[in-house]
Amino acid sequence: MFRLNQLAGQFKEVKFLADPLEYLRLYDMLEQDEKDICFAVRKFAQEKAAPTINKYVEAAEFPTEIVEALKPLKLIHKTNTYVKTGLAYLELAKVDAGLSTFYLLISSLVPHSIETFGSEEQKQKYLTRIKDMDILGGWALTEKEYGSDASSIQTTVKKVQGGYLLNGNKRWIGNGNKDILVVWARNAENNNIEGFIVENKWAGVHAEPIKHKLALRIVQNCQITFKDVFVPDENRMPKAKDFQNGVTQALQHSRVGVPWIALGIQAGVYENVVKFTTRRKQFGKHVAGFQLQQERLARILTTFQASFLMVIQVSRLAQEKKATLGQIAAVKAWVTDKTREVARLGREMMGGDGILIENYCIKALTDAEVVYTYEGSYDINSLIAGREITGLSAFK
Ligand SMILES: Cc1cc2nc3c(=O)[nH]c(=O)nc-3n(C[C@H](O)[C@H](O)[C@H](O)COP(=O)(O)OP(=O)(O)OC[C@H]3O[C@@H](n4cnc5c(N)ncnc54)[C@H](O)[C@@H]3O)c2cc1C
Repeated sequence: MFRLNQLAGQFKEVKFLADPLEYLRLYDMLEQDEKDICFAVRKFAQEKAAPTINKYVEAAEFPTEIVEALKPLKLIHKTNTYVKTGLAYLELAKVDAGLSTFYLLISSLVPHSIETFGSEEQKQKYLTRIKDMDILGGWALTEKEYGSDASSIQTTVKKVQGGYLLNGNKRWIGNGNKDILVVWARNAENNNIEGFIVENKWAGVHAEPIKHKLALRIVQNCQITFKDVFVPDENRMPKAKDFQNGVTQALQHSRVGVPWIALGIQAGVYENVVKFTTRRKQFGKHVAGFQLQQERLARILTTFQASFLMVIQVSRLAQEKKATLGQIAAVKAWVTDKTREVARLGREMMGGDGILIENYCIKALTDAEVVYTYEGSYDINSLIAGREITGLSAFK
């Protein structure tokens, strides 16, 4: 592998730095088992996902064949820390941020909610199958009329004999048309937002993928309606008591992962741009040799280094349960914002070819928009950080 110090004196032979993690020796910050995950997922992503993913992206189709190939890796069982899961997100996002987002849902939001708030019976019934990827799930909070203002959601459950009747809608739910959903709904009895495990096959659940979506194309984001869905008592997650001790906690966990997806987009842009600009010639020279291009390339690479350092630090803190809601929100906001800039610079560096899907950057540009917005928009995450810094809430 490329090491700057090992190559001192041999720089003439170095064509380009291919791997952005090599630059500030970021691999040195990883334990061996973390590197093992990183390289295993990289191998999978490059060999099994990269060759066909864009066919699914263009068709906005779920890549069943790639997801089936991911199953034998038993990755969800192995990625048991923030850094390990994060590295998996990074490597998948380098190929496609949609694939990485799909994996975030099935490895973090859904199983973590059941693990944290579910009963022993719920864990027995669902968790192993989720981690084996035998069942796929979505995490349903957002509604048509309530996005950022998520604590005002209006989907409700009403107590009936043996369970609850669920009514309402959910919007943008990734994997919303698969096997199960973790649904957040207002309990009409106490007005608290509580969590329920809902099976898609139950009567009254209707999920329709949202069409005409030009980002994260392979993720099946659904508009879901619930009409008098009977949810048995045993599918209410007993430890999700209210919004704070349910939704907020789940998002705090998952938001540590989102900037790893953003890091993957940045790395994907960097790697593709380096390949492109060291190949493409204009005015008889490689375009990578022009000063303006080098400034952009340096900006992309240093942004990745800074982003990585923030993300790994907040992930390590979260692992030790020392990261605050505000710190996690601030890192998510900053890194995803910088990722938009990186994607734009990368696209620009490729000229017209920058809009071709095979060159990654245009996909990065649109996908970065969603990563910047989901799990709390940039604005909301900045306000969460601001509230923590000042003690004053600017939104609720
Ligand atoms: C592709 C995609 C996938 C998603 N996946 C899921 C999923 O799986 N599950 C799920 O539950 N949700 C999901 N979401 C929903 C996502 O979390 C919301 O889109 C996000 O929280 C923003 O809500 P909104 O889109 O309704 O925007 P709005 O809340 O309507 O906001 C519109 C604009 O106003 C700004 N704004 C709102 N309130 C304030 C304020 N107080 N101060 C300053 N600015 C403000 C926002 O930042 C934004 O710029 C997904 C969304 C997308 C696009």
